Amino acid sequence: MATEPAGPVPGARPLTGRAALVTGGSRGIGAAIAVRLAADGAAVALTYRDRDDLAARVVEEIEEAGGRAWALRADAADPEEVRASVAAAADRMGRLDILVNNAGVGLIAPFEGIALDAVDRVLATNVRAPFLAAQAAAAHLAEGGRIISIGSCLAERVAFPGGSLYATSKAALTGLTRALARELGPRGITVNLVHPGPIDTDMNPADGENAAFQAQLTSLGSYGRPADVAATVAHLAGDGGRYITGAALAVDGGFAA
Ligand code: NDP
Repeated sequence: MATEPAGPVPGARPLTGRAALVTGGSRGIGAAIAVRLAADGAAVALTYRDRDDLAARVVEEIEEAGGRAWALRADAADPEEVRASVAAAADRMGRLDILVNNAGVGLIAPFEGIALDAVDRVLATNVRAPFLAAQAAAAHLAEGGRIISIGSCLAERVAFPGGSLYATSKAALTGLTRALARELGPRGITVNLVHPGPIDTDMNPADGENAAFQAQLTSLGSYGRPADVAATVAHLAGDGGRYITGAALAVDGGFAA
């Protein structure tokens, strides 16, 4: 029987000694992921675009709980800022083990009226940024490294009209995830995708105009919480994710069922 590499130290937090970069970590799902990975022992760098107040608050929350965190302003739609944020994160933390591509923009609108600049902005933020961040991160990731992207339940099942651009952008992450799983697998790096269903955030508030409609599209009949998505990301980031790669995991309350 082959000898197994040493697993996590009993009693230690699962991500002790690891360093994570979470894009779009100032609010919503990204903030919950940053807080959860830090609670599991990782040092965390998080990016944001506008809300430096909220980014600072997430950093404070992590530090007050005894963790280490850094906020980096970086517009995901700007290729140079994406690359620079990965370099800065690795530099501040002294290493990089986990990249979480979470920053994203939503756009639900009739197909015919979507303007070219909206197409460019959504694809730059939701597709090009994860591609470039993964490319930059791959130079730092060692065996056991993790790339986890946040897709959407609309990537797999477009249950209502208006999702042409957003679903296109999130479905592109399936190709990226599978292709990178193949390319980085030989280095012991896993690459996965998490598809949230309706999650209560600023982007999609549970008391919003279309919330009741979205909730009834799920099997559970309710919205999820950012922490629900963070729990699955933490699982993939930890030793439990060791043998999961190229996969898409739904955290969608049964939206896809
Ligand atoms: P929110 O709008 O609540 O938060 C978005 C986060 O991303 C903020 O931290 C924001 O920073 C950051 N961000 C947005 N645009 C950029 C940019 N250009 N550059 C850098 N950071 C940026 O979104 P959610 O938490 O709801 O969504 C997170 C991810 O989950 C997205 O990829 C989204 O598509 C996906 N998702 C969400 C679902 C939901 O129901 N909520 C369902 C399925 C998928 P700042 O605070 O500075 O603006």
